[in-house]
Amino acid sequence: MPRVAFLGLGAIGTPMARHLARPDFDLAVWNRTAARAEAFAAAHDARAVTTPAEAARDRDVVVTCLPVSRDVESLLAGPDGLLATMPAGAVLVDCTSGDAATSRRIAAPLAERGIGFLDAPVSGGVSGAEQGTLTVMIGGDEATLARVRPVIECFGKKIVHCGAVGAGDALKAVNNALLAMHIWGTAEGLVALEKAGVKAEVALDVINTSSGRSNASMNLFPERVVTRAFPRTFRLALLDKDVGIAAELAREQRITAPLLQLTSELFRMAHHELGEEADHVEAARVVERLGGAIIGGGDAAGSAST
Ligand code: NDP
Repeated sequence: MPRVAFLGLGAIGTPMARHLARPDFDLAVWNRTAARAEAFAAAHDARAVTTPAEAARDRDVVVTCLPVSRDVESLLAGPDGLLATMPAGAVLVDCTSGDAATSRRIAAPLAERGIGFLDAPVSGGVSGAEQGTLTVMIGGDEATLARVRPVIECFGKKIVHCGAVGAGDALKAVNNALLAMHIWGTAEGLVALEKAGVKAEVALDVINTSSGRSNASMNLFPERVVTRAFPRTFRLALLDKDVGIAAELAREQRITAPLLQLTSELFRMAHHELGEEADHVEAARVVERLGGAIIGGGDAAGSAST
């Protein structure tokens, strides 16, 4: 029976961990706010523990899903840390959308102890996590991936080996930078059209059968912006972090990437304006404020007219 630990029961970590709470797995869960781990264990086939060290004891696979790589790095050291108990031969699978430099720093002390490391960020959102259909972008050794693939397959449908440690992080950051560009660009276009007298429903209907379409125009704007629903599924603060990682990647590689740098600035501004708990699609609200029109009509406070 695979012995697995899951650390980080946030918006996406919780539905991912649910797929590991199964009778043929021995699952331990840890969360910084202990009440979340206790609630998870009460509702699922899992055991809540109070420290990362306790979570990692006797585990074959430890999965982490925290906001940033530095948060994962901070779980390693000390008497309560993962390194205190994680056995040689085990693998740390980090599903955080992280950064390559910190992932390499995490992998080094693990390797010294004979512990494997994979950066394994995911895409597909909370709904993909709930359905167990996430795409998982792997950085690290292919043989290590082969050993833990059955565990990752519990929540991942498409599992892609991208390269050495950090390659998964880099690809995930670029994907999310494209998401950010689509959100911002779609918002700018729809605000301009709104002011020109073209309704968002009409604009999206045309764009979504034309070459300008994207996940933003096909799903996010119709379901979340035009409706003013703005559900909180993926924090804007985290998308700001992702675009920052992509912009840094471009700088490290010394490529000219003005659009990545600008998108990073725009999302930092939106994050600053809307705060830590805003959803990523709410960046459209900043574009609306700057443009002086609400997508889908409605008053300045953002309530739809219909
Ligand atoms: P949330 O903000 O919802 O949850 C964060 C989790 O990390 C919580 O369990 C929180 O614990 C814990 N945490 C925060 N800071 C620390 C810390 N310093 N030390 C230990 N634990 C900490 O984030 P998400 O679940 O949305 O995202 C997690 C990762 O997955 C991020 O890297 C994100 O970019 C990525 N991701 C998210 C997606 C989404 O749709 N939400 C989609 C794809 C990737 P506590 O309960 O104590 O606050």
